Amino acid sequence: MRISKKIRIFALDFNSDFMKRIVFLLLAALCLSLYSLPTLAWGQEGHRIIAKIAYDNLKQGTRKRVDKILGKQGIIYYANWPDEIKSDTIYPTSYDWHFQDFNGGMTDSAVVAALTDYPKEGGNLFRVMDELIVMAKGGKANGEGIVPGMPEADMLKFIVHLTGDRFCPMHTAHMDDLGGNRVKMKWFGRDTRLHTVWDTNLIESQGYSYAEYAQMLEHTYGYLKKDIMARTEEELLLNNYHFTEAIYAYQATWDGNTYHYIYRWHQPMEKQLYIAGIRLAKLLNSIY
Ligand SMILES: [Zn+2]
Repeated sequence: MRISKKIRIFALDFNSDFMKRIVFLLLAALCLSLYSLPTLAWGQEGHRIIAKIAYDNLKQGTRKRVDKILGKQGIIYYANWPDEIKSDTIYPTSYDWHFQDFNGGMTDSAVVAALTDYPKEGGNLFRVMDELIVMAKGGKANGEGIVPGMPEADMLKFIVHLTGDRFCPMHTAHMDDLGGNRVKMKWFGRDTRLHTVWDTNLIESQGYSYAEYAQMLEHTYGYLKKDIMARTEEELLLNNYHFTEAIYAYQATWDGNTYHYIYRWHQPMEKQLYIAGIRLAKLLNSIY
């Protein structure tokens, strides 16, 4: 019969030497691709995504001014500079500027108080940001200021980067585990830490470039822009705090399956990146 002949043409004989070789090569290629999962730091990609979203949402006059300070799209290209200079002596205390410590089970009022009543221990993200904003507006920061005489370009680089850190859940996390740095976990069988999952692994799992990612987020979450612009700092901080607490709570019940982790958290993480970008645009529009 004609039909059965046709079917036989497409039927593959897996016992033939040729097919065995093909199957072997396909398996080898699959193993190699699993081993070469991207290892680039998302820390970098995340900050670029946030800066790109901000750049796209700057007022015309603000964009001109920040371009003049750092070059065209410079806020994107320099978004990671404050991480790069951590090992330089140029700003020796800057390592502690990137995070603000909290504890589990805090009341909302205690969380909000951290915005102005800067905790004595741990990171100083909120204090440094407040001082940078005052200085960038041409004023004199309280007390000694973080670095008297800091060049305008450096202020802008720090403001861009630290605003991103402020919305990264593990940069406003628990002091006792160093912001998730002591929480070990496996990511597709490889050792990582909770902090790195949120800085790096989750965003890498989606495989976008920073520009593609920024564009996708602007398309997906653009309808939230007005609402995000209208939120108070207190509301956003509480939102961040409860977000981080939910991550810790999930950690305690997680089954260890990386796919489950990605499925549960990639969209909330993306929304957080978008919020950070829009709030950075708002901040830069108010300063420059
Ligand atoms: Zn940082």
